[in-house]
Amino acid sequence: MYIFKTVSDLQQYLHTQKKQAKRIGFVPTMGALHRGHLNLVERAFDDSDVVVCSIFVNPTQFGEANDLDNYPRPIESDIQKLEQLGCTVLFLPAVSEMYPKDLVSPSVDLKGLDSSMEGAHRPGHFAGVVQVILRFLEILQPDFLYMGQKDYQQFAVIKYVLHLLQLKTQLVCVPIVREEDGLAMSSRNIRLSPAGRQRARLISQMLFKAKEYAATKSLEEVKKYALTFLDQHQLEVDYFTIIDGDSLENIDSFDKATTVTACTTVRIDGVRLLDNIILRESI
Ligand code: AMP
Repeated sequence: MYIFKTVSDLQQYLHTQKKQAKRIGFVPTMGALHRGHLNLVERAFDDSDVVVCSIFVNPTQFGEANDLDNYPRPIESDIQKLEQLGCTVLFLPAVSEMYPKDLVSPSVDLKGLDSSMEGAHRPGHFAGVVQVILRFLEILQPDFLYMGQKDYQQFAVIKYVLHLLQLKTQLVCVPIVREEDGLAMSSRNIRLSPAGRQRARLISQMLFKAKEYAATKSLEEVKKYALTFLDQHQLEVDYFTIIDGDSLENIDSFDKATTVTACTTVRIDGVRLLDNIILRESI
């Protein structure tokens, strides 16, 4: 695996690959890699010849400096995992490489996609995400960009931006990878106490059941079931919402959207656990 730390080294390498008509796939991450991340890299090889994974803890998407400082950075084991998987390139830029002093980042009006759900709890977060992804796309100009359904709102925001700016990169949404008991994999899960880890399975349990109900019941009934479940188990809920999967607007009936997604964030042991499920998708 090649490891590049500078934009120019990476671009020089990609230039040669593109001249040979190699398709470039890109997987952006913040490291502390688990099977969810690695699955994105594996998925990328389905349509890409060269897979570039980045590890960059983007300061502009963090609200509190504390969170940024405490973000786990087990770089040696991350490198090992990517090597084992046969990832082609690891891009490991410093902040100064991503955001040189004279860089002007485009500002994009996200039309409210960034104000609900995670956006309501983390002001400025999605502006930071858009900034870093656009910078990466400018550097790499990849054919494919792979992002996890796990961060559903992030995926929807980037989908919107790619469309708005008419960028040629194709966005691929990769399904959520879960632990055996259903908990969505996340680098935050290790911060749960043993008891909290046990309770964390309730989140996906609720979502799976909601999907089952969605096959036969009204959206109102599904929502009632979910909220009652969360309440009965005394879970601390930041939000539970059923949305149009594209506009991210709340909906009250299944026929109001092509994709209907239930999104939630629950706090256990003070850890914010994000999860979602696509309830219905009409093609
Ligand atoms: P992060 O390092 O948290 O920024 O995540 C990098 C990418 O991995 C994002 O596109 C996430 O949505 C994706 N990802 C994180 N956890 C999972 C998971 N459990 N299943 C699928 N994708 C995931």
